[in-house]
Amino acid sequence: MSSYPKTTIIEATNTILRVHSIESLGTHDGPGIRTVVFLQGCKLKCVYCHNPDTIAMDGGEEYEIDALVDRVLKMKPYFGKRGGVTVSGGEPLLQSKSILPFFKRLKQEGIHTSIDTNGRILNHFTKELLDDYTDLVMLDIKHMTEEGYQALTGMRNKETTFNLAKYREASGKKMWLRYVLIPGLTNVPELLHAMGTYFKDYKTIERMEILPYHQLGAHKWEALGWEYPLKDARENTQEELQAAVAILKNYFKEVTLN
Ligand code: SF4
Repeated sequence: MSSYPKTTIIEATNTILRVHSIESLGTHDGPGIRTVVFLQGCKLKCVYCHNPDTIAMDGGEEYEIDALVDRVLKMKPYFGKRGGVTVSGGEPLLQSKSILPFFKRLKQEGIHTSIDTNGRILNHFTKELLDDYTDLVMLDIKHMTEEGYQALTGMRNKETTFNLAKYREASGKKMWLRYVLIPGLTNVPELLHAMGTYFKDYKTIERMEILPYHQLGAHKWEALGWEYPLKDARENTQEELQAAVAILKNYFKEVTLN
């Protein structure tokens, strides 16, 4: 837990979030029907990124927290028992200082909160945010080897993500893992077994979610004038998807294809 008094942290928060886009009623980013707020800015540059236009730190549009809360409240009747709000990106934890007051308001309204993150940031703001205001963390596991992690993300030190996983586990609060499955790069039996072995004793992991690779983001890279790194990659066959699910089911109680 954070050693900082909570009042200090909330007082130090910002009231502006830099937003790339908002999906009012999404069904792919967390439980039930959710408003998904895609935040601007990410320090990684994953070769398969579907939203490369979220990477730049200076893009997007500034939103007041009050305006975002008002927008969410209009959608609240559609959330039902399971739905709520997810912040995704980009990398949302870069804006933890602003998500804190946003999620605090949502929790006061009884709305389920979730964060989709690459897990590279764990400071006193993120700890406060995760411990007190985030019902579900969806943690993106990029690769199980350091070389693979660097090749996929352009950044070193995959351990940062695992440190966040350990922190979440110690808090006892819910977590899903997400894994982009690319033939030959991440859909490799040894890597799937390594992931399962690493996380098999985690009690907080409710679900292992596989995101099958597809090239739908390629045109966005081209629009940015960037060369798409995976233009020769192919999608998984049905057999390859089912084989990956079968391996992961040895380790996780729920394995889903998103
Ligand atoms: S962490 Fe997510 S938003 Fe950032 S580059 Fe990777 S896929 Fe894109």
